[in-house]
Order: sequence, then structure tokens, then C-alpha cells
Amino acid sequence: MFLGHFGVAMAAQRVAPLPSLGTLVLAAQLVDGIWPIMVLMGLEKVHITPGITAASPLDFVWYPYTHSLLFGALWASALAGAYYAMRRDRTGAAWIAALVLSHWVLDVISHRPDMPLWPGSPRLGLGLWNSLPASIAVEFALLGAGAWIYSRATRARDAIGRWGFRAFVLTLAAIYLASVFGPPPPSERALAWSALGGWLFVAWGYWIGRHRKARASAWAITRSREWHTLS
Ligand SMILES: [Zn+2]
Repeated sequence: MFLGHFGVAMAAQRVAPLPSLGTLVLAAQLVDGIWPIMVLMGLEKVHITPGITAASPLDFVWYPYTHSLLFGALWASALAGAYYAMRRDRTGAAWIAALVLSHWVLDVISHRPDMPLWPGSPRLGLGLWNSLPASIAVEFALLGAGAWIYSRATRARDAIGRWGFRAFVLTLAAIYLASVFGPPPPSERALAWSALGGWLFVAWGYWIGRHRKARASAWAITRSREWHTLS
């Protein structure tokens, strides 16, 4: 899955008002951010096999350190633990852990049976990617719902907050359509290098987060730092 991960990250801002959108994107995308590094180091393996599924030519031969449920749980506790240590926000930390794990669930829904539970385990996958129309419908539904929820849960402070956010959503949609309808990547290395570009969306999320603010619920206000500066 691609757009769906960003959709759940944006939606999470409604229930986790304190983390930046960048942190939420980092959580939902964490294992896809580490995956190209693992591929470039030779620790995980992918083949490009056009036609292997209707929506993606990627054959994930071996990727247990990023995409097994076991390692998903380890990455989730690492990121949520680091966030909690820095921000002392229990709710945010719990949702960050849930977002990291949501990556595994969404990938099980979309991939062929290539998602391990632990390194060397039997592999799961419901194969949404075998249908191009269904893949596109689900990806855009999740992106659209997430963007809508995020736009209601936050308010732009300025033009960057308004237009930067819209551009973020449109750029994701354009990249997804290009990957589905464009030619397959020329090589596994080229694929891994371009996949590193996913980190740009983490940075972009932090940028948007600085230019939007959570719509205040009483609960969020008493807990946010802004309250201290306002009062
Ligand atoms: Zn993934």
C-alpha cells in the first residue's frame, strides 16, 4: 500500500492532537523508510517482476526486518518509546505505536502472500493489488478520508499551512498514479534509491505541522504547550 499509509497518518491527528503530522507520517511509513536502506545494504531483497500483480511489479523476496509483524512490533515500541521520552504524551505515543503496526495490516491487505509474521515464518497477503481498480479505489478512499479528517482536525495558521497541505496530498496522488501507470523501475537499486524519497514526506509533514494547529478540544488545550505560552 502507498496512499493508505498517509491516509491513516493524517487521520490519526484527530485522536492524537499533539504529535506533528511529520511524526505521524514517520510512524505510518517507518518500515517503508527503513526498507530501501535494508535493500541497499543487501539485508532485504526485492525483484522487479512486471505483471506479478496488477497494481505493482514488486516481488518482495525477503524483507522480515522491516515487514514482519514481529519487527513491526519492535519498530513500534522503539518509535513510540522515543516519542514518549521526548514529549511525555501517552496518548500520542500509543497512537504512534498503532500507526507503525497499521503499516503491516495495510500491507497484508494489499500484497500477495509475502508478509511474514517473523523472519522465516509462513507469509500472509490478501492480494488487493491483484485488482487495479480495487487498489486505486481503496488507496484514494484512504487518502481522501485521511486528508478530510486532518483538515477538520487542524486549522491553517497561514498560507503555507493551507497550500502546503493541499500540495502534499496532490503530490502523493500524482506519485501513486505515476507508479501504477508508468513504466516499472529500471533496477532494484534505482527502486531503492527512489524509495528513499519517502523521507521527504516526513520532512514535509513537519513543515505542514508547524503551519497548522490542532483545532482546540478542551482536553488538547490543557495538554498542549501553546497553552503555557498563551496563559
Ligand atoms: Zn510497506
